[in-house]
Amino acid sequence: MPSGREPEKFIRWRKAMVTDQLQGRGIRDAAVLAAMGAVPRHLFVSEALMDQAYGDYPLPIGYQQTISQPQIVAEMTQALGLLPGDRVLEIGTGSGYQAAVLAEIVFRVYTIERLQPLYMQARKLFDRLKYHNIVTRYSDGSTGWKPESPFDAVLVTAGGPSVPEVLLSQLAVGGRLVMPVGTAQSQDLLRITRTEEGFEQETLCACRFVKLIGEHGWRDE
Ligand code: SAM
Repeated sequence: MPSGREPEKFIRWRKAMVTDQLQGRGIRDAAVLAAMGAVPRHLFVSEALMDQAYGDYPLPIGYQQTISQPQIVAEMTQALGLLPGDRVLEIGTGSGYQAAVLAEIVFRVYTIERLQPLYMQARKLFDRLKYHNIVTRYSDGSTGWKPESPFDAVLVTAGGPSVPEVLLSQLAVGGRLVMPVGTAQSQDLLRITRTEEGFEQETLCACRFVKLIGEHGWRDE
């Protein structure tokens, strides 16, 4: 990816995003840098915002949701410590950008979105860009995807009040879950690793995400 020719300016801006925003701020995982250097981020936003797609900020994707800032996408992906054979669950498909980044690195990505128009849009884009290793689902991702578990990694791209136990139960031993946890206004990015003995939790950084809404997240208003 990407297939076919794309305007030279996007290739140039994407390279600058990788060197200035990602390597420049300490992202070292070669697979993450290669993935973000390959995914055409401008195709995951509306046409009116394409020229801003490689900027150092999140962008609106409609329905009061956002595509996250490139740096936080890189931080979260790096924090998952992915291996090529991994199966990863993402909660909060949104634009589909994060799922595409994951799909460049691992064997299979399962991604869940609760808003139907975003789910439909992302599905179409995955087909168009030939991301055949992404499996999509329209539902409340706060309950996970039990029939496809256990996962080597779980990434929640919306902030919740706590880590849903049901998601921890769907991690393989050695598996990592990364999720923003806190209030609706600000969260800490947590990484929880499942060991033979139980779970180990680390706080990675402060962050600000839209709400995880669902049975094990915030209530819909
Ligand atoms: N990963 C996305 C991307 O690359 O564009 C960005 C995600 S956006 C910050 C958060 C997404 O989580 C929104 O699309 C929102 O609708 C979705 N979401 C919130 N609660 C959810 C839930 N319980 N299940 C599935 N998706 C959820």
